[in-house]
Amino acid sequence: MKDVTKNACHLCAPLGASLVYKGIQNCVSVLHGSQGCATYIRRYLIGHFREPIDIASSSFTEHTAVFGGQENMIQSIINVINTYSPDVIGVATTCLSETIGDDISMILKEFHKRRGESKTPVILYTSTPSYRGTHVTGFFKTLHDVINQTAIQTEPVDRMINIFSGLFSPAEIRSLKEIAASFSLKTILFPDYSDTLDGGNWNQYHPIPPGGTPIQIINNCGNAQASIDFSFCQKDEISAGQSLFGKFGIPSYRTAYPIGIELCDTFYDTLATLSGMEIPKQFMRERERLIDGYVDAHKYLYGKRAVVFGDENLVFSVSIFLAEIGIDVVCAATGGPKDSLIGLKTKEAFARTDILEDCDYEDVEEWVIHNRADILVGSSRGNKIARNAEIPLIRCGFPIHDRVGAARQNFIGYKGTHNLFDQITNALIEQRQNSMSINYGTM
Ligand code: SF4
Repeated sequence: MKDVTKNACHLCAPLGASLVYKGIQNCVSVLHGSQGCATYIRRYLIGHFREPIDIASSSFTEHTAVFGGQENMIQSIINVINTYSPDVIGVATTCLSETIGDDISMILKEFHKRRGESKTPVILYTSTPSYRGTHVTGFFKTLHDVINQTAIQTEPVDRMINIFSGLFSPAEIRSLKEIAASFSLKTILFPDYSDTLDGGNWNQYHPIPPGGTPIQIINNCGNAQASIDFSFCQKDEISAGQSLFGKFGIPSYRTAYPIGIELCDTFYDTLATLSGMEIPKQFMRERERLIDGYVDAHKYLYGKRAVVFGDENLVFSVSIFLAEIGIDVVCAATGGPKDSLIGLKTKEAFARTDILEDCDYEDVEEWVIHNRADILVGSSRGNKIARNAEIPLIRCGFPIHDRVGAARQNFIGYKGTHNLFDQITNALIEQRQNSMSINYGTM
């Protein structure tokens, strides 16, 4: 047991909150804390998505840290209203404001009292101290809190479902929307940052990038027939689907990220059940092509040893996919909390896998130094480990800041899985080809 964390295998909780707020139309995030927190988070989001990202801050100083941040918070909200004219402001707390015990709901009451009749945007808030969570738990907690604060039930809408997304790329969110539309379902997908974090070239400057789920649509989540909720590895108390089930009795399907045949089958079957439709032919064809790909490439993959690390939901799904294609997952590591990979621990296929939870990159590096691995699958932060071990790193998850295209990466669904499959197979072939003394042109 180590006393300290060095180079944590996760990022900070308000980063996850900021990502969710980027999925709301015309919304600006305000972090209640120091400017450094907002800068750090912006730096990571910009490096990954390569888009302009504004995150406001209540700009704590030494004085605020001692006497409380109410006045700073109120002033920062006024500044955001005057600068951006947003429909929604998303407030998230940080380590310092939580440590001194600032009560955000009380501060917001005071703000509304002072504001009186003036036009005011919807203000949402969440508590995200990083010493009690990661960017992943921060993401799901904020998603849960937004739904909890906004969803109302009036008249149920036929064939309408909620999809509560995971930490997917913009391309994956677009793909989810297309898949759901193919089942003729009306879908509320939240958070939807597929445009706000992957926009086009502007002729005219937009203070807030276009896109995102409108707040009125989020309100309507309480009228859906069911929720598909990708918070598979998270606790019930931060599941938006569970929250709607508890409040309005809306059934919730907790679903793992759909990567690989087994997990994709579960996802497409759920859509078929909810829509009362057969799975459309185009997806069955994609499934057949994927299986054909598995058969074609098994000779390159069988018995290879992989280390998977990062977001617990991604580690879970990628591990199941790798086992499916004959790769031994020898180590599955996450910075997520204890038991976030319990779903892997209970599966026979991972009985010999070293499962590291609440770990840091030092742990992963130690593991790789003392054991043998052929490939790493995880974020760019595994680059140093891969370099030292001279094995390939397949970049997936967050952050990817040493390659372009993270926003366009699509590894979900049968088609997306095929992309990931090809990347892994080709990386292993390239590794073998480069290590041979004779230049074999055909592998
Ligand atoms: S102080 Fe806390 S919230 Fe701020 S950047 Fe550091 S870990 Fe994140």
